[in-house]
Amino acid sequence: MSTEKAVALVLRTHDFSESSVVAHLYTREFGKIRVLAKGAKRPKNPFDFALDLLTLCRIVFLRKSTEGLDLLTEAKVLRRFRVERENLPGLYGAYYVAELLQALTHDYDPNPPLFDLAAETVAALQNQPHPAWRIARFEWQFLDLLGHGPSLEVCVGCGERMEQEGGGRLHFALHDGGGVCPRCRPGRRSVLSLTAETWRAMRALSSPSAEASPDHEIPPLVRGELRGVLNQLICHLLGQRPRMHEYLAMLPW
Ligand SMILES: [Zn+2]
Repeated sequence: MSTEKAVALVLRTHDFSESSVVAHLYTREFGKIRVLAKGAKRPKNPFDFALDLLTLCRIVFLRKSTEGLDLLTEAKVLRRFRVERENLPGLYGAYYVAELLQALTHDYDPNPPLFDLAAETVAALQNQPHPAWRIARFEWQFLDLLGHGPSLEVCVGCGERMEQEGGGRLHFALHDGGGVCPRCRPGRRSVLSLTAETWRAMRALSSPSAEASPDHEIPPLVRGELRGVLNQLICHLLGQRPRMHEYLAMLPW
């Protein structure tokens, strides 16, 4: 058993016994971990508010060398997650970030840039009543950081640069990892036809220096196409529809 320190984001907790909970945490140092927090349900407990959902905290835990849960010994709040009562979009967006981290990262597989992106996104969503762009930005970069980022610059079939076709459209092969040119398209399944404007928005969102908010109004057609691509990419990876997807379509841009 070794003593470890980490900075963590609380993804979810569930009861373990009358007085203890299991917390699922995404840490900067170790990736996703599950820890037993003994006494966390007692009125006076050593963890205070540090295990509230989406809280950023500094933790100390005993890492088990064999099967079994790690043991949380200390947790101190670095930043509580608080949204104003009217800001349900920000709340749903942050739940979705937690859901993706929970479902699509592995235990003890650290990814510090992903941790930083998630912590920054959750913090921003606390007071962001128009979070749809911010969430799409998180999703694209999340996919990139996990090695699933689609190819937007070149055709996945032949490596030629992706160009607009007649009618100003480009084609995206959902299960082949990105854009396909007219020569490589025949025979591929699940190919979406997207406007050049949607393609530009996808490139902007996937850039590591992507703006936190769009620099112009995103037209409804582009919003719909963006959500369509992202929903299908995430569902494909997850093998099912994320719980929060039904809310995402309602989030303001
Ligand atoms: Zn091609």
